[in-house]
Amino acid sequence: MRYEGRPFTYLFGIGKGDIVIDGHGMAMFVNHSCDPNCETDEIDGRVYIVALRNIKAGEEITYDYWLYDGDDDAPCHCGSRKCRGSMYSPSELKKHKARKQKQLKKAAKRSAKSKANGSAVAKKG
Ligand SMILES: [Zn+2]
Repeated sequence: MRYEGRPFTYLFGIGKGDIVIDGHGMAMFVNHSCDPNCETDEIDGRVYIVALRNIKAGEEITYDYWLYDGDDDAPCHCGSRKCRGSMYSPSELKKHKARKQKQLKKAAKRSAKSKANGSAVAKKG
């Protein structure tokens, strides 16, 4: 509830996801990539950003956000060859796409109904 309505949050779910750490501060400066040079690691209830390989001086530090539990689209423009087009985790992306399809079908049904109602009104008028 604390973060509802905020355009950006930097939250890390730890454990089974029932504990959340606010990463506002350091984490907000690390961008997402589908082919990152770092990953987040949970050690003793703390979140660390750990290098996956040697990182050159001046190279941007990135990790895969692996987003879950979101309603909005989270498009990715990381530009890597491995880019999946979204900052959601692959499993969450499948769920997200399925939800979108349902919403589109509902909207199409509503639109068809309102068109039908609209033509009925036109006949009356
Ligand atoms: Zn990407």
